[in-house]
Amino acid sequence: MAKIQMRTPLVEMDGDEMTRILWKDIKDILLTPYIDLKTEYYDLGLPERDRTGDQVTVDAAEATKKYGVAVKCATITPNAQRMEEYQLHEMWKSPNGTIRAILDGTVFRAPIMVKGISPVVKNWKKPITIARHAYGDVYKSTEYRVPGPGRAELVFHGEDGQELCQTIYDFECAGVLQGQYNKDSSIYSFARACFQYAVDTRQDLWFATKDTISKKYDHTFKDIFQEVYEKEYQERFETMGLTYFYTLIDDAVARVIRSEGGYIWACKNYDGDVMSDMVSTAFGSLAMMTSVLVSPDGKYEYEAAHGTVTRHYYKYLKGESTSTNPVATIFAWTGALRKRGELDCLVELREFADQLEAATLATIEGGTMTKDLAGLWEGETPANAVDSRAFLEAIKAELDKRR
Ligand code: NAD
Repeated sequence: MAKIQMRTPLVEMDGDEMTRILWKDIKDILLTPYIDLKTEYYDLGLPERDRTGDQVTVDAAEATKKYGVAVKCATITPNAQRMEEYQLHEMWKSPNGTIRAILDGTVFRAPIMVKGISPVVKNWKKPITIARHAYGDVYKSTEYRVPGPGRAELVFHGEDGQELCQTIYDFECAGVLQGQYNKDSSIYSFARACFQYAVDTRQDLWFATKDTISKKYDHTFKDIFQEVYEKEYQERFETMGLTYFYTLIDDAVARVIRSEGGYIWACKNYDGDVMSDMVSTAFGSLAMMTSVLVSPDGKYEYEAAHGTVTRHYYKYLKGESTSTNPVATIFAWTGALRKRGELDCLVELREFADQLEAATLATIEGGTMTKDLAGLWEGETPANAVDSRAFLEAIKAELDKRR
């Protein structure tokens, strides 16, 4: 069979440790035998980031802006221990943070569901996608301990000379104080990315904040979402039979737990941080979560939600075989290939992405899986827990049946 041709290259961002090993195996076993794979390759592995002064990360993000679709392997975010381990010149920033800032993107995380591994919440039948506004709030806050009695004020000096000042609290004893912010421009981008992704994936959109308590801060989020909905999306939502639903965050949590799933839940930064871990754990495993960064102007970067699986890498370095789950990384590739297929009108490429996903799920549903999933398996026959390579080979056998 002739290999599937591509028109535009995917931006390929290689990464670190065990996921870097899986990256190559996935390409060798599941992609290049079938596709004449066109990529513009950027090595985001830590040694290359260090060698280039992290320029390679910026270049990869710029290439994503140019071509529109990227696929990224997990990467190390350096800390003090990594500085020593890799003899780094600097403690480079998180590549995901850098890429997110350049693309002004929103991160959507969704679980991959398989028969035989059921969510802890029994009524969840369809995936719940969490959209996290990954900018500002407590993550960019300024805070300190208040040493003792005194007045805390919230002050704004406008460039035009306008002054705003309010008393936060008259402290009668020591305490704590924190100032946080967000920008209208970022909230508009967040809202547009959420509505656009809802249209792209044909799912309802839920959004929740605590606007009854936070009458200016959270209310601004609510108002901007409502404005973007009415001015830019209401008509399309109604035509497509989709719903935009706003509620209070506590009501949202209760409704999510009682729901069947199958919608996007947009969350402010902190809510998204906490809720995405809750949702991924309740759906089964971090190794089965996909993640896609979407910019308001429609650029896409696909990746697995998990990290570089360091523990397995050290075993691999000792020559031991590992049973690292490649599913989320495979789905990052299929997501990117499908999107490229859509944008370039390449039916074959889109079909290949569907086939590879179906083959991956069928392999697990047939009882063959990596060790992390074997512990969650509820199938009738015992799980056949295999190492990563054997798992990829089993997927290939399933894929060949479909081609
Ligand atoms: P991790 O996701 O690599 O691992 C966390 C735990 O989940 C591990 O104990 C592992 O047993 C399990 N796990 C995760 N993915 C798995 C898989 N595919 N198969 C089997 N088990 C899996 O996170 P970590 O250990 O906190 O971080 C390791 C490195 O990854 C760090 O250097 C961190 O900076 C980086 N990281 C990168 C990203 C990213 O690039 N998106 C995200 C998170 C962490």
